[in-house]
Amino acid sequence: AMLAPGPEIFGPGRRNSMGFDLTDGPTLARIDAARAGVTVPDAAPRLAGDAGPGTGGTVTVHNPATGAVVAQVQEASAKDVARALDHAAPWQVPAAERAQVLRRAADLYERDFGPLFALLAQEAGKSLPDAVGELREAVDFLRYYANGGEALSRPARGIFACISPWNFPLAIFTGQISAALAAGNGVLAKPAEQTALVADHAVRLLHEAGVPRSALQLLPGRGDVVGAAIAGDGRVSGVAFTGSTDTALRIRRSMAYALAPGAPLIAETGGLNAMIVDSTALPEQAIRDIVASAFQSAGQRCSALRCLYVQEDVADTLLEMLQGAMDELRLGDPWHLSTDVGPVIDAEAKAGIDAHIATARTEGRLIKQLETPADGTFVGPALIRIGGIADLEQEIFGPVLHVATFKARELEQVIAAINATGYGLTFGLHTRIDGRVQDIADRIEVGNAYVNRNQIGAIVGSQPFGGEGLSGTGPKAGGPNYLTRYTAPEPGHPVT
Ligand code: GLU
Repeated sequence: AMLAPGPEIFGPGRRNSMGFDLTDGPTLARIDAARAGVTVPDAAPRLAGDAGPGTGGTVTVHNPATGAVVAQVQEASAKDVARALDHAAPWQVPAAERAQVLRRAADLYERDFGPLFALLAQEAGKSLPDAVGELREAVDFLRYYANGGEALSRPARGIFACISPWNFPLAIFTGQISAALAAGNGVLAKPAEQTALVADHAVRLLHEAGVPRSALQLLPGRGDVVGAAIAGDGRVSGVAFTGSTDTALRIRRSMAYALAPGAPLIAETGGLNAMIVDSTALPEQAIRDIVASAFQSAGQRCSALRCLYVQEDVADTLLEMLQGAMDELRLGDPWHLSTDVGPVIDAEAKAGIDAHIATARTEGRLIKQLETPADGTFVGPALIRIGGIADLEQEIFGPVLHVATFKARELEQVIAAINATGYGLTFGLHTRIDGRVQDIADRIEVGNAYVNRNQIGAIVGSQPFGGEGLSGTGPKAGGPNYLTRYTAPEPGHPVT
């Protein structure tokens, strides 16, 4: 049966998100029924007050697995951003009232699991396990920040721009917005241009729960139009952004010119994430965790494993096992329950990843690639040999795992090389040497280090998520310090 909402595992007053047992036939049948009849409505800017309809152009959304038309999105124009700001207002009601509305929104998200799973598959190419994880993370964010908002003693900043990515179109979209709202800010939400339909459904639910229109407006559209207009308008008092490091730097520059001094940028950006597997690791467990870290969500997580370091003594065995495990992965339409790896988000993403793999093939470094389905924007998971992480010039955001070997005496150089990338998001370690765990954890410069498990799927409230260096500004999402950044500084502490 579908699992009941979990116990209050995070302490008094906290409620776990609803689970789905995907090994249970009746649960799967219920999910299938709930998503089967869904028709996806077109989306458009959701502006407050008498701002009227949006004025941007219209784009067609295609299912990345099939190419089928999903719906139309009318995008916002720069003028719409200005009009939204004319009508935007902080959410000035008692914190307890905001919290209650956000908790109601969490319940509505759970009520709408069918449409949300349908949208996540059709617009974002999400497999069912990924869609479940994403819904649960969004619900956890809503409840976690609702609780946190009640505990805040500082006032809101004003109007926050929340600029979110396509790889977590529900969870990260909702996380940014609910944090800003819980603290009492008004929000202009700018979803990724690839995933405005999921965003539109989420905003509808937040409005239905009771978030005022003036406190939450939706501005779908392109980064260089809508994002640029938002980050360039002095009425915005802070920006939350998740996406590429380059875009974060552009936003930062624009904010420096246009926004009030001290306006915060809360950014989560890219990573060049490594895992070290030493000769004491349990191979079966390491393989399972490598496959999940590199290929789940088609590698489209900023937490995903990009560079695997295997100790030379066990490398032959481990790589043979890894290739065997890759052979078991099924690529296909994420709507099918048997699919492990869905498509990448769009043709442009596919072209970039394909080019990277083609170069490796030409250079004789491609160890293996699974066959790529002909329709849709799929990329067959690939394994590429490299000398070390320094060979990677940039994050390849797809199902591509790079592997290097090291000798026992080279461990120090490996750690130094990982730290030298300048990124610092996730790191994985497989070892059965206790002393090594603490030693490496102390020195590796990342936000999230995982030992003897996979390195994706941080859980709200228990594994705050975020990086250092080029990977983000902090504070970590889903952690105790996050909400404070959405509030005004205390007198005497002008910079937070
Ligand atoms: N929080 C996600 C995870 O732990 C990654 C978020 C992202 O890709 O931006 O896997």
